[in-house]
Amino acid sequence: MVNLTTYKKDVKANQCPYCKGNGYFQLRLGGSETCSCCAGSGRK
Ligand SMILES: [Zn+2]
Repeated sequence: MVNLTTYKKDVKANQCPYCKGNGYFQLRLGGSETCSCCAGSGRK
């Protein structure tokens, strides 16, 4: 069995929590919007 609990627990420190390191948000209507938290860098 694979232990998913420890895997999920470890969140990357330098990753932007809002866009999850992508630097942008995926919009439901289509397209993408730059993350205002990290200004598109994906890092905090
Ligand atoms: Zn971000």
